[in-house]
Amino acid sequence: MAVPSLSIKDEVLSPICSSCGKLIHPREKAVAFLCPNCGEVLIWRDYHCRKQGIPYTCPKCGFEGP
Ligand SMILES: [Zn+2]
Ligand SMILES: [Zn+2]
Repeated sequence: MAVPSLSIKDEVLSPICSSCGKLIHPREKAVAFLCPNCGEVLIWRDYHCRKQGIPYTCPKCGFEGP
């Protein structure tokens, strides 16, 4: 029984919001930027968290920012 590789590809293409941990849909107005502290991690924030100003945490260096 072959496992379709599409499911893995979908997971890669679906970023996770760094603030709430929810999957970000491709159509959603999300923003992505490198961590301002270490500059190595791509931080994703969905439209909701950006609008609400919910803080995010860098998974690499632990930097918290608005
Ligand atoms: Zn979010
Ligand atoms: Zn960082």
